[in-house]
Amino acid sequence: MNDLSSVPQSEPKPERQRKPDWIRVKAPTSKGYGETRQLMRDLKLNTVCEEAACPNIGECWTKKHATVMILGDTCTRACAFCNVKTGMPGRVDVDEPAHVAEAAAKLGLEHIVITSVDRDDLPDGGASQFVKVIEELRKNTPSTTIEILTPDFRGKMRPAVEAIVTARPDVYNHNLETVPRLYPTIRPGARYYASLRLLEEVKNHDPSIFTKSGVMLGLGEERLEVHQVMDDMRSADIDFLTMGQYLRPTPKHAEVKEFVTPQAFNAYGAIARAKGFLQVAASPLTRSSYHAGEDFAEMRAAREARLAKGRK
Ligand code: SF4
Repeated sequence: MNDLSSVPQSEPKPERQRKPDWIRVKAPTSKGYGETRQLMRDLKLNTVCEEAACPNIGECWTKKHATVMILGDTCTRACAFCNVKTGMPGRVDVDEPAHVAEAAAKLGLEHIVITSVDRDDLPDGGASQFVKVIEELRKNTPSTTIEILTPDFRGKMRPAVEAIVTARPDVYNHNLETVPRLYPTIRPGARYYASLRLLEEVKNHDPSIFTKSGVMLGLGEERLEVHQVMDDMRSADIDFLTMGQYLRPTPKHAEVKEFVTPQAFNAYGAIARAKGFLQVAASPLTRSSYHAGEDFAEMRAAREARLAKGRK
């Protein structure tokens, strides 16, 4: 079914933003979770799983899937949806690339997702650290596929993207996060069209790299605005779209305007597929890196199938 008007868009907003049943997850307790946590501590690595208080951490870490956040734990931006702390970050850790590679080897990762805080204070925005991490991973765990999720490198986007793309990650992800109308309140330090251009730039440099982007729903966006974002992404030749429910990390952050139902997520997913994305993940608990390895394998197979049929 492709018509969202025929499915319930949302439940009425619960009192005091109580989460609906489909959002609740179990507290993490497994042995695998504990081992992943200990390894991250031992190697002094930050993860977005913890910093963003991700609801999937129990499931992901039990399966030894963690998203490493490089370049420190302090971000130079203050987005209204994000739980990562804001301030003046410290020195770049020169051992970090080797530690990321060690973590990938010890966790036995087939696919790794690397992200970072925004580092507007650095001359290259932190691009060279992404390059070093990719190089270390290629050297130490050559069969691990690499997905990076970068900031927008405001004011230095072109050289940053060129450097990272030259290092050849398998997937380049940069999230648009929300619809353009909500940027001034939700993502005030960023520009919607600059983020789109970044993703276009990746494809211009190397069309073989998969591009990926995501939006959070429940921030007050309208259905047609979401469809427009999908069209904008397809115009930028983005391969993979993720859509998940925004959850408010603390009362200081932007409020949840609605809890989008699983049915509405399914309908959005069907529309996105019809618009030609190679891969779509749309559910309340979808996050950029959720099931990233399995989704990457499916996306690669989908591209091969399209190429076999003579389509781009
Ligand atoms: S979905 Fe991503 S951020 Fe959340 S726990 Fe899993 S890997 Fe970490």
